[in-house]
Amino acid sequence: MWLNEFTSSVFELNTIVFSLMNFSFNLVFIYFLLNRYIRGKKSNREEIEHLKANEQYRKEFLGNVSHELKTPIFNMQGYILTLLDGGLEDQEINRKYLKRAEKNINRMISIVEDLETITKFEDHELKLIYRDFDIIKLVREVIEMLEMSAVENKIKLSCDADKDQILVEADKKRITQVLLNLISNSIRYGVSSGRTVIQIRENRSLVRIDVIDNGLGIESKHLSRIFERFYRVDKSRSKKFGGTGLGLSIVKHIIDAHKQTISVKSRPNIGSSFTFTLNRAK
Ligand code: ADP
Repeated sequence: MWLNEFTSSVFELNTIVFSLMNFSFNLVFIYFLLNRYIRGKKSNREEIEHLKANEQYRKEFLGNVSHELKTPIFNMQGYILTLLDGGLEDQEINRKYLKRAEKNINRMISIVEDLETITKFEDHELKLIYRDFDIIKLVREVIEMLEMSAVENKIKLSCDADKDQILVEADKKRITQVLLNLISNSIRYGVSSGRTVIQIRENRSLVRIDVIDNGLGIESKHLSRIFERFYRVDKSRSKKFGGTGLGLSIVKHIIDAHKQTISVKSRPNIGSSFTFTLNRAK
């Protein structure tokens, strides 16, 4: 009798355990399905957000490009129409207007070239060509290239290094571009009788380059944005001196591609210092 009862309770227990197992299995299965569903939804949402951001980026980019190109195109149109309207025969203005039209063409060329460089960096099309070179020598060469415009703007350029030679491993052509952009900015946004010092220091594995000026400086609220494409603090001044608003964006792309860092410190009416690092040659 008791054996019968015992077997039936064991049987019941077995059924309960079995049902419980079944239930848990179903729960796990439902959880798995739900998880997949939620993840699928999330990745769809993320994809949609990504597409929206891309679309916004594309719109902003096109808007900025057409805005930038409009000014030189309309300027050129104005000069050419005046020449066609009789200005060509006027010895006073014909050469002057042709020169001004040429200046606007050059501006368009620099905008298009800068855009091309940025697009190539963003599409990861530009491969760096690493080699060892003396960064002090390169800084001196870039100072020489910019000497004329420095003299015109009454800015003194100098290089400060505590050694005769410091070898870095980097893409020389691209680093030349970085130095040209940073030093020409220090001239463009400098003050009369100002100075720019390019300081070069090395530690165990890195070389640190500081481009320090005592120019106009930048208010702190702009600092986080100046490496963005087309971002300008003072639009009229930048355009007057031929700035495209793309220089620092290119600089950032080049330093990022080297897997190094660039930072800026600046105070209005005191000056700015842009600092980047490079790997020392092994
Ligand atoms: P731009 O072609 O206008 O010079 P950049 O990308 O090189 O464009 O610089 C972005 C903005 O950052 C400039 O318009 C300028 O307002 C500011 N800026 C850059 N470098 C300096 C500097 N050395 N001193 C003061 N302002 C600077």
